[in-house]
Amino acid sequence: MDPFDSNSSDRANLPRNMIENSMFEEEPDVVDLAKDSTAFPTFPALDPDDVVYEPRSSRLLVRGLGENDMDEDEEDCESSARLLGMSFMNRSSANRPSSSPYTRQPPPRSCSRPSARTMVVCVLFLVIVASMTMVLYFLPGCTFTKTGCRKTNQTTPLVPVNPKSSSGEPFPWNGYRLPQSVHPLSYEVTLNPNLDNMTFTGCTVIHMSVQHNTKRIVLHSAKLNITRATFKLGEGEAEAVTVLEYIPRQQIAVQFSEDLKAGQSCVLTLEYSANLSHTYGGFYNSSYTDKDGKKRVLAATQFEPLSAREAFPCFDEPAFKATFLIKISRNTDFMTLSNMPLAKSTPLANGLVQDEFKKTSVNMSTYLVAFIVANFTPMSKNVSDTLVSVYSVPEKKEHTDYALETSSKLLAFYNDFFEIKYPLEKLDLVAIPDFLAGAMENWGLITFRETSLLVGQHSSPLEKQVVASVVAHELAHQWFGNLVTMSWWNDLWLNEGFATYMQYMSLQAVMPNLDIGNLFLSVRFRALDKDALNSSHAISTEVNKPEQVEEMFDSVSYEKGASILLMLNASLLGEQQFRKGIIEYLKQFSGSNTVTNDLWNSLTRVEVSAQHLNVSEMMSSWTSQKGFPLVTVSRKGDEVTLTQEHFLLTSDDATHTSNLWNIPVTYVTDNCSVAPECRQVFNLKTKSGTLKLAESVKWLKLNYRNTGFYIVHYGDEGWAALIDALKSNFSVFTHEDRASLIHNMFALSRLGRVSFQQVLNLLHYMSNETETTPVTEALMQLNVLYQLLDKRQEQDLVPRMKNYVMNQFGSLMDKQTWKEEESVSKQELRAALLGAACSLGEENYINQAKELFKRYLNSSGTQQIPGDLQQVVFTVVGQSDEDWDALLTLYKHATYDAEKRSMLRGLASTQDARRITWILKAGLRGDIIQTQELPLVISTVSNSFAGYLFVWDFIQENWDRLIEKFPLGSFAIQSIIKSATSQFSTQAHLDQVKGFFSSLKERGSQMRSVQEALETIRLNQRWMEKNLSMLQKLL
Ligand SMILES: [Zn+2]
Repeated sequence: MDPFDSNSSDRANLPRNMIENSMFEEEPDVVDLAKDSTAFPTFPALDPDDVVYEPRSSRLLVRGLGENDMDEDEEDCESSARLLGMSFMNRSSANRPSSSPYTRQPPPRSCSRPSARTMVVCVLFLVIVASMTMVLYFLPGCTFTKTGCRKTNQTTPLVPVNPKSSSGEPFPWNGYRLPQSVHPLSYEVTLNPNLDNMTFTGCTVIHMSVQHNTKRIVLHSAKLNITRATFKLGEGEAEAVTVLEYIPRQQIAVQFSEDLKAGQSCVLTLEYSANLSHTYGGFYNSSYTDKDGKKRVLAATQFEPLSAREAFPCFDEPAFKATFLIKISRNTDFMTLSNMPLAKSTPLANGLVQDEFKKTSVNMSTYLVAFIVANFTPMSKNVSDTLVSVYSVPEKKEHTDYALETSSKLLAFYNDFFEIKYPLEKLDLVAIPDFLAGAMENWGLITFRETSLLVGQHSSPLEKQVVASVVAHELAHQWFGNLVTMSWWNDLWLNEGFATYMQYMSLQAVMPNLDIGNLFLSVRFRALDKDALNSSHAISTEVNKPEQVEEMFDSVSYEKGASILLMLNASLLGEQQFRKGIIEYLKQFSGSNTVTNDLWNSLTRVEVSAQHLNVSEMMSSWTSQKGFPLVTVSRKGDEVTLTQEHFLLTSDDATHTSNLWNIPVTYVTDNCSVAPECRQVFNLKTKSGTLKLAESVKWLKLNYRNTGFYIVHYGDEGWAALIDALKSNFSVFTHEDRASLIHNMFALSRLGRVSFQQVLNLLHYMSNETETTPVTEALMQLNVLYQLLDKRQEQDLVPRMKNYVMNQFGSLMDKQTWKEEESVSKQELRAALLGAACSLGEENYINQAKELFKRYLNSSGTQQIPGDLQQVVFTVVGQSDEDWDALLTLYKHATYDAEKRSMLRGLASTQDARRITWILKAGLRGDIIQTQELPLVISTVSNSFAGYLFVWDFIQENWDRLIEKFPLGSFAIQSIIKSATSQFSTQAHLDQVKGFFSSLKERGSQMRSVQEALETIRLNQRWMEKNLSMLQKLL
């Protein structure tokens, strides 16, 4: 098996246990079926467990536990069959002819010396038994899903292996997803953390209801040492029970000799002990050094996606919502926080205090539970009956004002926008000194990195933009994600795409001075770039393994999700349609879980345009298939033909797809091109379509303001007309349209549809450009090429490329100042231009940066470097031999985190081999440089020629320690792999990368980011082969 082949459909080559696991792990589809009544309209809505889990488990129990266990499961199978009616049997016999590859030997029967009649009866009996067994045993769960079963070449019969629990007894469940037979109603979690020895004990009481008869309760638990367990059924007495644990799936189970009956209620009480985690997940310990140089410890939680189970045993899937009552004991000099307000504090006999929080007033998913034990201080404010507080370590209290003001404004905005009031009494936003993600939306207790929440007195508007966006994103989650939650991680985008979209939308409305639109535009471009790879995935995609869950946290779920929502909103008539639809969605599903189609159905119901747009039909083409379309324009007079195809960078016969999208194509012409009224719409659903122009035009520009998620090719003539228009008066296009022309042209060059000469022709107008987004997009694209040439040591081309950039952008660079600047957009522009000038080694810019640093260093804090230029200045300083140590000293003493981060990136820009090695190791150790910053250090180090080779060695040598700190598939690991490999463009490096990841096997070879890395290297290699000689001529 080639583990790097993205086409994993060849399951015959997989080891047997993998095939079996995947066979038993297809619940998401089934859940979809149960929800999606249109897929099989004749079926009643089914409990997924009825359809799939029980028959599957019966297969396991037959093998694993012997015949005595058949009763319950036979019953379950029977009820499933009853529910499904005859269609179940018909479909099964139709789908599983006798030639089924799953055939196994019929059970032996003794029919000694039979009569002919007995023989006939025996044979008939055997046939019936064998067919029934085959139906029940071998029918895969995927039979009833929309997608059906994958084809398999398996020729040997499958033997489901019942897993063994850690005690050696059979574990009564063989599925990654939990069975649906028992649902939790409420949890009472009591925790006793000890911050001296970094351990904790806990007791969790779970009240549950039995959904249908079962002899087992299966839930999650990881790294917890369960010391005592009791079970109480209905009003009966609590009795001690044995807990079985299956460590590979982080599941525990309690088995019963008699059925728990549907409708009964029961209580499971589990006592346990554990270590506080040393990673960034679960209930983890953290520390920081206070202003007196004293080490302070704290404990905090990060549960999303799969780590609540590390703090308390629970049904750790988003659809198992319940209420939570949390109690935590603490030392008197600490305080605690949780989702709900404090109810009471009780002194304990051992001198500690127990804080008890109110029971949650809402049902919530386990991943949203949170608690903190620390010595933080708050700043608070009342916003329409909600107490909003921002917490930080005491010495950073004065950095919380901006977050408090911003979160208050945004909370008021969302309360109004969604027409549903934030449901909890309080909302805490907490800056945690050691935190891997940007922030986490725990209900009522949002946790942040310090850089995502704290803003210093001298912070630039650009730093405020970062804080405001993260706060806006997390607050949007209080509705999207917390109130209405995706049923399973395959639809993570319902949380993340929406929160990302709302973050830009709300800030545009509430804080227009932050110019958030520029940021949104550039993240849409990056999402297109990633989605153009064959290794990308559909927005809604099957997820059956922990690392697949982690991998869903990527730009497809976030940025592509947000992009398609923008496209939808832009194509609905009237501002309010979209809002009405999401209000209806939130109201209808408040407190429950949804799948993607629920959202589209809500939006379809409120759609009132004359076209009667079927939102569901249109949008599922964007969520159910990976990638996006390339729309090619060809014009003959007033007749314009649009053709669509999959924009796939790796496009050969093997990857060719005939995917079609339902595209709301927008366009403007030279007759009217800037004002929103100029925009015209054409719905392209088929391979090609023709539109008639009302008047004669010189040019057409599609995808007005780049609100659509597609790329446009205008053909040679079309491009030539647009380039002419740009040259004579670029303001006939909006700045988003200019940026989108630049982005699309580079993308088409990468695809091989336009020559590099055309790219250069388009960029010719750049020296006149005044707006930020076209400049930053062009610089970003050119930098990618420059870095590739530099890393290949194309000695001849690198200086020529430098000259080209300086010729094109030199006059713009000259116009920039190094003084304070208020406009965010202008800050972005000058940071990009001055940063580029310095990185290309332009002496006079470098000297100005050094001068600014010297003044700052000698002024003992009175002379500031403008916040937006700190990065430029520290990067120059970090590359100079004499100033690096001074920067390191500053870094060690800096308290303001945004500044500290800029310094760190400066330090990591060093070209010195010893310093590179030191900084990578320090990031891994986590003392001087926090390990949470390691992905940033790695990406910065990789930019330099010396650095990128060191990084690759470093990752290979330290892989196991890296995946100890950052979970496989996590965003941090995705970023590390990308940084380390995306600049390779030779066969030798391709072989090395392939060899290394292949050798990791289950320690990483299966990750999507590995496929992405290999595909990127191949594409770089191909681009270089095709274009190097052309660049020799052109530059
Ligand atoms: Zn989010």
